[in-house]
Amino acid sequence: MDQQQLDLPGILDDVELAEKASEKGKWANVPNRGELHVHMNGAIPASKIREILADETTVLPAAFQFERDLVRATPCQSLAEYLTPWQVLRLFPRKRENLDRLTLAVVAGLAENNVRFVELRSSVLYLAALQKCSPAQALERLIESTGEAAQRHGIRRGLILTVTRGDYSAVSLSTLLQAYQDLGAPKDVIGLDLAGDEEMAYPTELPSLFREAKDRFGLGITIHAGETGRVENVRAAVELFAADRIGHGTAAGKDPELLELLSARGVCVEVCPISNRLTGAVPANEAHPLQQFRRYGVPFVICSDNPGIHERGLSDDQAVAMAEGLSISDMRQQYEIAKRYSFMKGLN
Ligand SMILES: [Zn+2]
Repeated sequence: MDQQQLDLPGILDDVELAEKASEKGKWANVPNRGELHVHMNGAIPASKIREILADETTVLPAAFQFERDLVRATPCQSLAEYLTPWQVLRLFPRKRENLDRLTLAVVAGLAENNVRFVELRSSVLYLAALQKCSPAQALERLIESTGEAAQRHGIRRGLILTVTRGDYSAVSLSTLLQAYQDLGAPKDVIGLDLAGDEEMAYPTELPSLFREAKDRFGLGITIHAGETGRVENVRAAVELFAADRIGHGTAAGKDPELLELLSARGVCVEVCPISNRLTGAVPANEAHPLQQFRRYGVPFVICSDNPGIHERGLSDDQAVAMAEGLSISDMRQQYEIAKRYSFMKGLN
C-alpha cells in the first residue's frame, strides 16, 4: 500500500510514532503474511457495505450517518464509539448473493496485503437470523462462500466460529456445535472464539463447553480478553477456557505473573496494533505492551482485527507494530509464527 495514503498520525495520535511507522513502511511490502485475527464483517470495505445496504433497501438507525459513523480511522473516545459501525454491520447480508459479494471483497483485501492464509471469524447465528435459515444452513453457506473466494485468490482459509459473551453464550455455543456436527464436522471450521463486552458475565458452564469442544473435535480456542483492562479475563481464558490464543490481551502487559503464565504455556497473543490505538485499549501516552510480550517470551502475532472499518490492511498493522518497537528480525519471524500458532493444519 502506498505510504502516502497512510494517515498514520490519525491512527496513532502521535506524530513521532507515525513517522517511525512510515520509515518502516517499506518493510510492509513483505511477500507472505498469515492473518489469525480478523472479523469478517469488520473487514468489508465501506464502499461494499453501502452497495449491499442499498441493494437490500436496509433501514438504517435514525441517527446513523455514513460519513461520520461507518469508518474508524482516528482514535475513539470510548470502545462504544469505536463499535458504532456495528449498528449497521449487523443488518446485512439478508441475501445469499450478498454474502458472496462481501466475502469476495474481504478476501480481495487480504490478497492485496499478501495474505497467504487466513482464519476468518464470523457469527453464524447472526447470519442465520439475517438469511432466515437454520444455523447449519448458514454455516454451510459461509463455508461455500469463503471457500470459493479463497480459491479465486489463491489463499488458504479456515473458519473460526464466534460466540458472543453474555447470558446466552452457552446456548449459542451448543447451537453452533450442533450445526457443525450436522454438517459432519467439516474441516473448514478450525476454531472457536469468544468475543463481546468483557464486562458481561457468562454462564458458569461456558468454559467447560469450550474445553469439551477442543477435546472432542480438535478445535482451537481463542478468547478476546484483556482488551478493556480486565486482567482476570486473560487468566480465565488460559486457566478455564484452555485458550490456545488470546485476542488483544493488552491488559496482560502490566501483570508480570500473567506474562510468565502466557510464556510458560506458550499461549499466543493476537496483537492488533491499529485497533488497539483506535479503541484506546492502549492509550496514546503509553507504550504498546507488545514490547512486554517480547521481553517475557510471550509468543504473539500481528493481526488486523477490523481492517475494512479502519480502512487499512495487515501491512499497515505490521508497519505500526514496527513503530511500536518491533525489529526487522521480529518481523521476519512473523510469517513462521503465524503458521506455528494457526489452527489450520498442513500449512507449509
Ligand atoms: Zn477482535
